[in-house]
Amino acid sequence: MPVTGSCHCGAVRVEVPGAPEWVASCNCSICTKLGTLMAYYPDDGGVKIRGETAPYIWGDRMIATRHCPVCACITHWESTGESYGKVGVNARLLDGFAMAKGEDGRAAYLFDGAPLEVRVLDNAGN
Ligand SMILES: [Zn+2]
Repeated sequence: MPVTGSCHCGAVRVEVPGAPEWVASCNCSICTKLGTLMAYYPDDGGVKIRGETAPYIWGDRMIATRHCPVCACITHWESTGESYGKVGVNARLLDGFAMAKGEDGRAAYLFDGAPLEVRVLDNAGN
């Protein structure tokens, strides 16, 4: 079932084909600073981003990290050239995403109230 969401100000609306099964916390230079939790979906038109977004492109210029120009929320990333077969959407923007305090006091990520698996993508050095 499609899941919707938006940036903080609502100027950008996001729709993905389903709830994320896991999200990626990536340790590349930009993701470390942004703190995004990316959910991946096939690049087949199932992900719909409505509203103006602005790109940030750096390094080898392979991908564009896009954000709302009004409230600055990162919405998604996409290839600057040929498709990689997948797109990454910032799961923090999706309805159903929540952050809670776990029993050990650490951050716990939830989706629709259930624990959301966070996988580290080891891209250090990029
Ligand atoms: Zn916004």
